[in-house]
Amino acid sequence: MTRAIGLVIFLSIAALLAMSSDPWDMHPPVKHKILLSGTFGELRTNHFHSGIDIKSRKGTVGDPVYAAWEGHISRIAVKSTGYGNALYIDHPNGKTTVYAHLHRFEPELATYIKEQQYLQESYEVNLYPDSSLFSVEKGEQIGLMGNSGRSFGPHLHFEIRDTESEVPLNPLHKGAIISDGTAPQLRELKIDYMDPDHRTFHQKKYQTINLGKRRYKIRGDTILAGAWRVGTQIKAYDLMEGASNLNGIYAMELRVDDEMVFSFSMDSISFDDTRYLNAHIDYLDRIRNKSYYHRGYRLPGNLIQIYREQGESGIIKLYKDKARKVDIRCSDSDGNTSTLLFWIKRAEDMRSPSTPSYNFRWSWDQAEYVSQADAEIHFPEACFYQDPLINYGCAQDDSDEHFSWSHDIDNHDDPIHKYFRVEIDMSSVPDELRDKAIIGRCGDDGQITNCGAQINESGKLETHVRSMGQYAIAIDTTPPTIKPTRFRSSMTGLRSMRFAISDDLKTSESARGLNYRATVDGKWVLFERDAKSDQIFHTFDDRIEKGVHQLRLEVWDDRMNKTVFKRSFTR
Ligand SMILES: [Zn+2]
Repeated sequence: MTRAIGLVIFLSIAALLAMSSDPWDMHPPVKHKILLSGTFGELRTNHFHSGIDIKSRKGTVGDPVYAAWEGHISRIAVKSTGYGNALYIDHPNGKTTVYAHLHRFEPELATYIKEQQYLQESYEVNLYPDSSLFSVEKGEQIGLMGNSGRSFGPHLHFEIRDTESEVPLNPLHKGAIISDGTAPQLRELKIDYMDPDHRTFHQKKYQTINLGKRRYKIRGDTILAGAWRVGTQIKAYDLMEGASNLNGIYAMELRVDDEMVFSFSMDSISFDDTRYLNAHIDYLDRIRNKSYYHRGYRLPGNLIQIYREQGESGIIKLYKDKARKVDIRCSDSDGNTSTLLFWIKRAEDMRSPSTPSYNFRWSWDQAEYVSQADAEIHFPEACFYQDPLINYGCAQDDSDEHFSWSHDIDNHDDPIHKYFRVEIDMSSVPDELRDKAIIGRCGDDGQITNCGAQINESGKLETHVRSMGQYAIAIDTTPPTIKPTRFRSSMTGLRSMRFAISDDLKTSESARGLNYRATVDGKWVLFERDAKSDQIFHTFDDRIEKGVHQLRLEVWDDRMNKTVFKRSFTR
């Protein structure tokens, strides 16, 4: 990396032309034609997408990846999930670029990373090299595009962050990186009927009709809604030339009677705020139908900074005699805009609001705790986006699997923003099993998920979770399974050895997944991990010489139940 290669001179004329219209004045992170499978701010599971996803040239790993500007490598992360192999470069312009899911790092970096992995005896590392160690030129190759971490198909996840705050910015800002002449598609409109507390009690969906020239309508033009006030939601995608991907839109504006009442734009979204996605979308539709809508109004506990609200804040009052004109405009970051226009008025037949059942209710911005039988459940303030309506019941469970009452806590599938604490009395757990006790969540299929466990100062078992469900103490004494998938006593001719590792219990929330450690002849060896296939593998290098060796592989779970695989092999 320190050797500065004048790659910039080799740029094609086309790339230079493309760069001249780029407000970032950046070297594109790849040299092939940039097509996107993801835009900034796109709606994803529990988060807004923090970068752009650049497609590989042919759907395979290995396309070279280049530094956007000059700078130095400030962070290298290797992880079996999340960003996988990721590079962070700090630039003199105050920005940090991030290149994630890489297949390989440049050889000089790869050597350094491996040294660090052996030093720390860990495959997963998070390295912050000194700023003098790896300087890069603008346009210098830094690695190869890949599919590592939580990636399902070769692509480059590329981010631009403000170095100081680490807040991701929209790389497509003002038509940068790609130019696209296709306007967003507005697929579906949803009308939320709201009660006086602005809680939705009924919804209706309307298919849009594409009139051409970026204009959309609904059948009949005027909606009759049996409610005093409504909110809108829109399902919209951005399409781009040359790709069939349904990408996220950049901005939305809602006008009522020609006055702007609500809008958002995806310019920057901090990681602290990204979970507000669940308030921005219709969470219920996401979990039931995997459908993502943008709300045209803000829930009270949604504090993300992407909205500009004016006047009525997006909630529309309805009148019987006067139809209100509504237009919804969605744009991509190149400024291509589509508009849906319709009218809405109050129907003669009103639908009466119904409140879902609950036995606990409080204000969303306050902390609260609820308690029954042997448990206490503590919710921090602003744990929900609107006042929670909670059904909480408990039952004495006589199954052998449970060592406490079973606590069923439900909030009608409203999204939960913060972790809340579940504390259960441990007195039914035999002494010798105390460190094997977990707080389990019982699924509809009867399967228990380990949600973590810690014995607190008052001797109770506690954990922090972000899901409702049925919680009880369970015991985990089952060790993990190790299955050789590429291993034999003679490893001659094989480039790697490989094992599948698995456990009987799923883990989630605050519970740790499987951990492992491998040694050859008593010395730690690097086993990489692919979380998607639950496999770990060692690729032979000159650290293991020809001859007979002793492999010892240990795998353990959250409760320290351990399995050891010991075998000799020749190389
Ligand atoms: Zn991505």
